[in-house]
Amino acid sequence: MLSGQWFVDSIGARWYFESGALCLDFAYTGDFGCGNPAWERLRSPTDLSAWLAERHGPLLDTADSHDLSQARELRSAITAIARARADDVAPDPSRVDILNSWAARPDIAPALAGGNVATTQASVVRALATIARDAVDVFSQAPGRIRRCAAHDCGLVFFDGSRPNSRRWCSMQHCGNRAKVRTHRNRTKETRQ
Ligand SMILES: [Zn+2]
Repeated sequence: MLSGQWFVDSIGARWYFESGALCLDFAYTGDFGCGNPAWERLRSPTDLSAWLAERHGPLLDTADSHDLSQARELRSAITAIARARADDVAPDPSRVDILNSWAARPDIAPALAGGNVATTQASVVRALATIARDAVDVFSQAPGRIRRCAAHDCGLVFFDGSRPNSRRWCSMQHCGNRAKVRTHRNRTKETRQ
């Protein structure tokens, strides 16, 4: 399954943001609660179908406007809980209820290719349930694994599932290198003084 997605920065350069989790990738199809409608990627039911198919393979059905509003509701619940986790506060229980009701629905069962019986059962609703279950799993992990990028002017939220739990940046290329350059400049300045 693909993970992460392309972002475009303020000067129009493309960079890849590996959020670390399917549910956070999904959350970042919107503005992540930042109040910028221009960042919306799911503008139509077709956008939703395309995004889900990219992650889960071909779907049996196509999304309609009802699916889109449901998907946005799930997304805003995931976003709110992710922000709460990153900021170390308790999430709004009503958002948790929305997430849990999605996670209770049948998801896309894992299947091994090569059998006689077609196993594709990926529908829009099952794909959303799969995302919700991923979110329950990710948000149930020990505290401190959902964090914001350490760059003061960034704050993108990611999930660090690695053993050392030492990731600092949304992306080395995007924020990590800028910080390195700054540290280097400061060191050079100090040496000169
Ligand atoms: Zn960053």
